[in-house]
Amino acid sequence: MTPDERRGALEQIAAEVGACTACRLHEGRTRAVPGEGDPETEVVFVGEGPGSNEDREGRPFIGRAGGLLERMLGSIGWRRQDVFIANVVKCRPPENRDPEQDEIDACAPFLRRQLEVLDPAVVVTLGRFSMGAFRPGARIGAVHGTTASVDPASGAAHALTLSMYHPAYALRNPAVERECFDDMAKVPDVLVRSRERRAAAGAAAPTATMTTAPVSAASAAPAVVVAPVTASTAAADQAVGDAPQLTLF
Ligand code: SF4
Repeated sequence: MTPDERRGALEQIAAEVGACTACRLHEGRTRAVPGEGDPETEVVFVGEGPGSNEDREGRPFIGRAGGLLERMLGSIGWRRQDVFIANVVKCRPPENRDPEQDEIDACAPFLRRQLEVLDPAVVVTLGRFSMGAFRPGARIGAVHGTTASVDPASGAAHALTLSMYHPAYALRNPAVERECFDDMAKVPDVLVRSRERRAAAGAAAPTATMTTAPVSAASAAPAVVVAPVTASTAAADQAVGDAPQLTLF
């Protein structure tokens, strides 16, 4: 799939999400929240569902939890626009309640299709509901910070998944927040391991690569690199500034 085809496919899914009435959550939404990020990324983060800020803006993780997610990404030298961020349900559950199983089931085809298009190397789940979509039956207290193979039926046929607590939960518990930073620090190594698995399986190489070098405190701020694998240095330099950002509505 070419970058244009990938972008077009994601936009098509976003348009369908925006018009979807497949479950009761469409009744109370202001805007659906399909997801956003770099269509060429190697890493997808999957949360649970939109909150009030996300419902108003049509974008995922833009409130305080989103701020924490961005700080965690910054701790490994990445920015939110270098990854793709989605949720298991695309419309806000009323009163920020947990999504119900029939709502998750109704919305699952959208996430599966997004993952088929993105073909990520790593799926990081944020919270127990997104973890449950990739590791059925697991308990987040037992498996956070660990990885598992992903069932190809999920759409991410060549990915490892790493489970994390939801940032909103971490905001309420400093000890959990520290664990989240520790778990995030593992993501670059998981990405390296997944690349090796993908190469061994003959999966397509990504058109963009993300830095996996450890981030020192001194170099943390500018450390993000998203560069075409086969591009010249000059083109790669431009790509750092022009990393393709896809905001979906
Ligand atoms: S949550 Fe998903 S399935 Fe339910 S109405 Fe929104 S887009 Fe459709």
